[in-house]
Amino acid sequence: MQTPAPLEEYVRATSVADAIAQLEKYGEDARLVAGGHSLIPMMRLRLARPEALIDINDLDELKSIKVEGNEIVIGAMVRHREVLDSPLLFEHYPIFRECEKVIADPVVRNRGTVGGSYCQADPSEDLSALGSALRGSVVIQNSTGTRTVPMREFHFGPYMTQVGDGEILTEVRFPIRPGAGSAYEKVERRVGDWAVTSVGTFVVVKNGVVEDCGIGLAAVGAEHFCVPAAEEFLIGKAPTEENLVQAATLAAEGCNPSSDQRGPADYKKHLAKELTLRALRRSVQSSQGA
Ligand SMILES: Cc1cc2nc3c(=O)[nH]c(=O)nc-3n(C[C@H](O)[C@H](O)[C@H](O)COP(=O)(O)OP(=O)(O)OC[C@H]3O[C@@H](n4cnc5c(N)ncnc54)[C@H](O)[C@@H]3O)c2cc1C
Repeated sequence: MQTPAPLEEYVRATSVADAIAQLEKYGEDARLVAGGHSLIPMMRLRLARPEALIDINDLDELKSIKVEGNEIVIGAMVRHREVLDSPLLFEHYPIFRECEKVIADPVVRNRGTVGGSYCQADPSEDLSALGSALRGSVVIQNSTGTRTVPMREFHFGPYMTQVGDGEILTEVRFPIRPGAGSAYEKVERRVGDWAVTSVGTFVVVKNGVVEDCGIGLAAVGAEHFCVPAAEEFLIGKAPTEENLVQAATLAAEGCNPSSDQRGPADYKKHLAKELTLRALRRSVQSSQGA
């Protein structure tokens, strides 16, 4: 049995301001805990050794999914299961449901949170591919105020994000795009596993032309989980099979996967192309049907 190192303090924050005050009080030795599905195993393995844990599970202000203006806003403490079940998210972007269906298993989805997933910043995180595809943004708060960071600038390497000491991610925002079609494709070694490769896309087709699109890829070493060259190629063109294949080829060329226990690099690159193509086809189909 792996046992975490002893904790000096465990505190249940009563508000976002209180969580920030606690983070400032305990300094760099403090960590927030949300669902605990990544942090607690890391503590058991002693890969993380916080001296103070600030529990944010009581922060109801971070638990809603809503529309504000032309954006969807998801609070940091929204659980995977709530994203999976949300009719509002499904109405605007079916990609949310498709993506959540293949994240882990019901036990993890019942506890794991949106904020925890983005802040853990695992290179195989499915929600990071989705967020990058939809060109979302995250809101980060500290004791002096808030700032909004585009999702494509939020991660600056594996397990590294723009959230600094004394800061908390409060919400994630996604632009609403009327008529957008979206889809998520993932290959995993067994049900509930992390991705060998996963790809999320959205496409807006108007008057027979791709007006806008986004492609996000996880687990294949795509910088910021995206390959803008593939999107730029497709925007302004007809969504023909030939153009979709070329966009998928560019997406795969922009990836830099590593060989590991989940598969060799060339197989992952092959998947990046094939899954991008499948997701683009389905996104185009549902956009045209809108
Ligand atoms: C068995 C298993 C299988 C999984 N499979 C998949 C998968 O297939 N695909 C996938 O995408 N994910 C997968 N996951 C990850 C899962 O999605 C969890 O949601 C993820 O572990 C992190 O969420 P959490 O709420 O548990 O975060 P926690 O473990 O509580 O926190 C993770 C990190 O984020 C920080 N943090 C948490 N919330 C905030 C916040 N609001 N602001 C700032 N920092 C914060 C914490 O301090 C910690 O450093 C899997 C996890 C497990 C255990």
